[in-house]
Amino acid sequence: MTPIPENINKSWSLFLDRDGVINRRIAGGYVRLPEEFIFLPRVPESLAVFGRIFGRIVIVTNQQGIGKGLMDEKQLEAVHQKMLKGLEKAGGRIDAVFYCPDLADKPDTCRKPSSFLAMEAKKQFPEIDFRKSIMVGDTETDMIFGRNAGMVTVLVGDGTVPQEMVDFKVRDLFSFALLIKKNVE
Ligand SMILES: [Mg+2]
Repeated sequence: MTPIPENINKSWSLFLDRDGVINRRIAGGYVRLPEEFIFLPRVPESLAVFGRIFGRIVIVTNQQGIGKGLMDEKQLEAVHQKMLKGLEKAGGRIDAVFYCPDLADKPDTCRKPSSFLAMEAKKQFPEIDFRKSIMVGDTETDMIFGRNAGMVTVLVGDGTVPQEMVDFKVRDLFSFALLIKKNVE
């Protein structure tokens, strides 16, 4: 574990996992409809804090419910519209959502921990510097994704992840927002 950098400013980017970080995960299932999308406590206000500090804020999410045929991209889009509206209302923002619809067993998948979604983000926002990026997630997959790209890794929640993968561990996204706020002020 290393401390959170103190020099975070608009040249830094924030990568966020979605399920289990932004919204409640559905155990053994998928968020297929807007009404199934429920923010975790104090997430919108956390994004308002991040928005004042980070240059770019993106979501990177595996959504194999699409690959399984349980939902389609239109439905996912509707879920994300609800998310973005909710964040906006609280003064927060997400610059883009990058998702991978592949099944877990697909070869050459875009799924995390592959760096595919990180590269997509960099394509859209060339100013993103992975060495000045933070990946926040709730699983080992997220931590490996961040590590592979050279980002600082932050684990939220109580998942068990090998310690060497995790730079910082917090209870939830809001705890991280408070920490960042304290560090830059
Ligand atoms: Mg997750």
